[in-house]
Amino acid sequence: MVYWYDLSWDEVKEKLPSIKAVILPIGSCEQHSLHLPLGTDTYSAVHLSEKVAETLKDKVYVLPPIWYGISPHHMNFPGTITLSEDTLIGLVFEIAYSLKQHGIKKLVIINGHGGNIPALTIALRDIRDGLGMKVALINPWLFISDVTEKILESKIWGHAGEFETSTALIEMPGKVRVSKIKKPVIKEPKTPYTAIWEKNKVITPWNTDEFTDTGAIGDPTKASKEKGEKLFNAMLERTINFVKSFIEEK
Ligand SMILES: [Zn+2]
Repeated sequence: MVYWYDLSWDEVKEKLPSIKAVILPIGSCEQHSLHLPLGTDTYSAVHLSEKVAETLKDKVYVLPPIWYGISPHHMNFPGTITLSEDTLIGLVFEIAYSLKQHGIKKLVIINGHGGNIPALTIALRDIRDGLGMKVALINPWLFISDVTEKILESKIWGHAGEFETSTALIEMPGKVRVSKIKKPVIKEPKTPYTAIWEKNKVITPWNTDEFTDTGAIGDPTKASKEKGEKLFNAMLERTINFVKSFIEEK
């Protein structure tokens, strides 16, 4: 059993002395093109969290996931639900505050959605300074960017593209609509350095539908199970390495 919410309170009490950290998976509820469900980022964060906790049994438990994130840029596609930054920062801080009251000292956030990073970074600082807890944020796809470069063919591999579709085939195979995988029509922005694949060279608020017709940014037709397996295994290996060391830190 790896889920915090499957325990009863007396079991939590009994296990507390051996629990070294808890993992909080967070994703989003946002459009992921035609072939992936709205919950893709959360499914993905939960799957990785679960595998890490299975390896570090009894030392690490997985908290109830946060199924919403910061997704205003996807709101032009039906189904997307977004939080504000303040709400997410408050939510994560209050979860940490509750954990602290039960004696949990370390929190690892496994995040499935890039749009959450600025708010989570603020929450991390608040938790460290305000609660004195040790806290870390893992963005699995950034954690293995060196590996990704060797595995993927496309230059743009982001949202619902080659990377995410490949890993989805491993993490949530039954939820990928394989017959609906389609290469999007990508519209390059007229102003240079502002596109999502320019990796924040110039930051300007954009909406996904300004770049792509299907909602995918990148080419999901290049995705494969084989690539997904390599990417997922790399994310898992590094995350386990990190968490193993993090839980031993004084
Ligand atoms: Zn995603």
